[in-house]
Amino acid sequence: MSRGSGALVLFSGGQDSATCLAWALERFDTVETVGFDYGQRHRVELECRADFRAKVTEIQPEWARRLGPDHLLHLGVLGQVSETALTRDAEIALREDGLPNTFVPGRNLLFLTYAAALAYRRGIRTLVGGMCETDYSGYPDCRDDTLKALQVALTLGMDRRCVIDTPLMWLDKAETWALAERLGGAPLVDLIVEQTHTCYRGERGQRHVWGYGCGECPACSLRAKGWREYAGA
Ligand code: ZN
Repeated sequence: MSRGSGALVLFSGGQDSATCLAWALERFDTVETVGFDYGQRHRVELECRADFRAKVTEIQPEWARRLGPDHLLHLGVLGQVSETALTRDAEIALREDGLPNTFVPGRNLLFLTYAAALAYRRGIRTLVGGMCETDYSGYPDCRDDTLKALQVALTLGMDRRCVIDTPLMWLDKAETWALAERLGGAPLVDLIVEQTHTCYRGERGQRHVWGYGCGECPACSLRAKGWREYAGA
């Protein structure tokens, strides 16, 4: 099944957005990707993007035909307006309200709004994002209600239908690995393990069965737990 008018995937270079990219390549005739450079500490994530894009097209011949250009937008202003462990050299920890101090207020609202403006220019109707509220850190801008409301706001504000697809919204991390396996078999799972990056600290020295990372930050913990449940199932 494929739908016309194409899709723009918010592709950070992490596990979730890489799975979303494969999901979109399976469904849409043309797929473009967008990434954001906002001075994140885990910049290594951005470096994984090109490698992953190049190699994912080797998995299915159709995907090579469908994958269009990549766009990188510079949002350094995010580091200026927010006080967070993602953009500053601080210990990653839980805040008093239960959110990790990696929380950048409204980050996904900004990302999706910039992506929608880019999609408008490219004649693309659908945005695809890896937001998820099943097995997540509690970020309110990842929740389904937030994204539904933003979809309405973007559609009204640009006077053109804008669809935000979030294929991982109701999947836990183990189910996200299983989705990758359904989409591209073992080659896609292996590619995600090797060529995506999730660790908030940006560490890439140690290779675990689930990929690279410090193994201790909230992002690594979620990824490792999901892998254990997926591989052990
Ligand atoms: Zn980590």
